Amino acid sequence: MLRPFEIHEPGTVEEASVLLAQFGFDAAIYAGGTELLLIMKEGLAHFPHLVNIKTIPGLDEIALSAEGDELQIGPLATHWDLERSPTVRKHAPLLAEVESQVANTRVRAVGTIGGNLCFAEPHSDLATLLLAWGATLELSSSEAQRVLPAADFTLGLFETARQPNEILTRIRLPLLSENTAGAYRKFSTHERPMATVAALLEVKDGIIEDVRLAVGSVGPLPIRASEAEALLRGQSIEGATFASAAELAAAASDPMDDLHGSADYKRQLVRVLTAQALMEASGRAAGETNEG
Ligand SMILES: Cc1cc2nc3c(=O)[nH]c(=O)nc-3n(C[C@H](O)[C@H](O)[C@H](O)COP(=O)(O)OP(=O)(O)OC[C@H]3O[C@@H](n4cnc5c(N)ncnc54)[C@H](O)[C@@H]3O)c2cc1C
Repeated sequence: MLRPFEIHEPGTVEEASVLLAQFGFDAAIYAGGTELLLIMKEGLAHFPHLVNIKTIPGLDEIALSAEGDELQIGPLATHWDLERSPTVRKHAPLLAEVESQVANTRVRAVGTIGGNLCFAEPHSDLATLLLAWGATLELSSSEAQRVLPAADFTLGLFETARQPNEILTRIRLPLLSENTAGAYRKFSTHERPMATVAALLEVKDGIIEDVRLAVGSVGPLPIRASEAEALLRGQSIEGATFASAAELAAAASDPMDDLHGSADYKRQLVRVLTAQALMEASGRAAGETNEG
């Protein structure tokens, strides 16, 4: 049962930040509420003050930067917004594709990308995808603004680098070069994914020039599979040793035993999903589809 709380409705990011500073650990930012209200209903947390940031104009905007080199996503963009946005579909189709597979219709309709990242629940599609993508996150308070790579934002299970008075105000996604193709694979037995893999391959004249491979949902936070990336860099796309790279990614994934499955099972999932994602990305790089 929900215990009583007060809702605050700031009109600006500065006002929201001041409220967060004023109420400290008694306050939480309220976006779509799909995680927050759930833990409050379950009695796992209680916040007497909810700071509803949906009253702040502009935080749900999705737009191309003035330079046209990155997608700028407001934290209140819902999974549905991102799946359906013509801008996302045109400039970052892999994001729209991943968003279409998140959760269920109800959660996709109200759950936001900002809430997903800030909650740092490990079974997140977005955390894995944005790590591989090299996204950066803008955090704002009444005092300052800073930008963090996605790699430095998630620190562990339900833990991020966000300070208590900071609000995630923008997610920046660099547009992929025309030589880069991506693919995403996940495995779920429940609504949330048990293992997630995102692969981006930059291919020029048949040679893999760069690889970005992220593995998530099997441990407390997503990781880059750096050894697998190093193995593939410089290989020809035709003869690329994707199976060996998948082996290295599985070894690096450091999964946890939990209710979703054993560590060994998850390691095997990472092995399979990584090989599949790399194969699919290489097919896309070779022009088999326009996605990614
Ligand atoms: C049944 C179910 C299935 C799900 N399945 C999936 C899945 O398949 N894949 C997946 O990736 N995710 C999944 N999720 C997670 C889902 O994506 C998140 O619940 C949702 O995106 C959270 O957004 P929200 O706006 O509802 O966050 P809220 O519940 O409002 O907030 C979540 C947390 O983030 C904080 N917060 C929110 N916005 C900000 C901000 N801008 N700045 C700072 N802090 C902020 C809040 O204070 C709170 O601590 C699932 C969730 C549920 C309930």
